[in-house]
This record gives sequence, structure tokens and C-alpha cells, in this order.
Amino acid sequence: MNKSQIISDARKQGRTLLTEIESKQILKDAGIDVTLIKLATSENEAVGFSQEIGFPVVLKIASSDISHKSDAGGVKVGLNNEQEVSQAYSEIMNSVKQRFPAAKIEGISVQNMAKPGVEIIIGMTKDAQFGPVLMFGLGGIWVEVLKDVSFRIVPLTRYDASAMIQEIRGNALLKGYRGSEAVSITVLEDMLLKISEFVEKNPEIKEMDLNPVFAYKDGAVAVDARIVLEESE
Ligand code: ADP
Ligand code: MG
Repeated sequence: MNKSQIISDARKQGRTLLTEIESKQILKDAGIDVTLIKLATSENEAVGFSQEIGFPVVLKIASSDISHKSDAGGVKVGLNNEQEVSQAYSEIMNSVKQRFPAAKIEGISVQNMAKPGVEIIIGMTKDAQFGPVLMFGLGGIWVEVLKDVSFRIVPLTRYDASAMIQEIRGNALLKGYRGSEAVSITVLEDMLLKISEFVEKNPEIKEMDLNPVFAYKDGAVAVDARIVLEESE
């Protein structure tokens, strides 16, 4: 499905929150790297997809009623064989049904497990005065505890993208520490610029989160994504 179909389907169903699968499909079409993802609606199908994708895989709940999947017990990473996939499938279903009995469940997504990288976050919100604004930060405690993030108004220039990466306090982590590799700053700038362009062209998008993106020395991949649409067109 393409962007217009995904958005019009969501609208028909009266939803403004796109699922991870829908959000990643749209981002992929905008030139952003995302993990390979398939929607399974049965345990057998999940096992089949994991064989196609190749181990290790990650299983996640797919529901437009659940935006924080881990909080619902809906994420299992590092699944190494068919048996672990089967078990994870039923554990996720049980946990989600228990914690969110009313949630409509589309299925469980199966995706490749991205290799570890530096976790970053890219977000978009709309400011009443300035319109769309991009946020950049490091993942985990850097954003949750230290609020170490930077902002720029869309559209971004390359200079803006570069400055917003440089000005976060944890910037040194991108340059390699304790033997870990430096990540490509150009790749991150490119990602910010693509997102800026995408946001500019798609005013029907109200909010967006790529949380986290794993950054590497030669690339960056969004392992989770969430898009929220404006209430009406
Ligand atoms: P939530 O809805 O709770 O934010 P996420 O999709 O972000 O769920 O998954 C939770 C965590 O699991 C991520 O922060 C990341 O560390 C890890 N994770 C998720 N998907 C993948 C993946 N495809 N490859 C590697 N790690 C992943
Ligand atoms: Mg997430």
C-alpha cells in the first residue's frame, strides 16, 4: 500500500494513529531506512515470516489502539529460532489481552533484529506559531531523564541539521567512546533533511516519532516509528 491508501484507510476507520507497519511503509517510501517488517495474524505465519526474514527477529504487537508497545508487554527482541518465535507470539498475545482487553489487535509484526548502534530519536511536532518543528536527541536516559534534545523549524537546511546534531550535550557519544565506533553524521543529517522535506510535503501529518533510530558508522535505521494524522484533511 502507498501513502495515500494508508492514510485514507485510517481515515475511513476513524483513526489518526498509524500503526508501526503503516508508519514505516510511508517512511520507507520517503527514502528512510527502516527494519524489514511483515504482519502475521497467526503463530504459524509468524514462524514462516521469521524464517523468510532470517534469525534473529523481533516480534511486536500491531494495534492502532496501543502506542507504547513495550508497556503492554508487546515487544520481544532477539528471537533466535522457531520455538522462541512461537513462544513470543503467545506471550505477547496473552500479555496484551490481559492489559488492554479492549484493544483491537491487527496481528503481530515480525521484523529483522537491527544490529546494535547508537540510539537516537527524531521527532516532529507542530508549534502553534512556528508550524512543524523537528526534534533530535539521543535515546534512552538522554531524552527521558536529561531532556537533551535540540529543535529546528521546518524546512531545515543542511546547516540546521548539522547544528542540531552538534548542539546536544551528549554529542560526544556520536563520535565514539570506550572503543565504540563513531557514527556517520552525514547519514544523520541526510535523515533529518529527508524528514524535513517529507513533513513539508505532508501537512496532513500532525506528529511523528522515530524512536529509536539505530545509528552506525555507515547508515541509520528506524526500528520503531509512529505517525499521527491531523483530525481532518
Ligand atoms: P515501543 O512502542 O515500546 O516504543 P519499540 O518498537 O521502540 O516499542 O521497541 C522497544 C525497544 O526494543 C526499542 O527501543 C529497541 O531498543 C528494541 N527494538 C525494537 N525493534 C527492534 C529491532 N527491529 N531491532 C533491534 N531492536 C529493536
Ligand atoms: Mg519506540
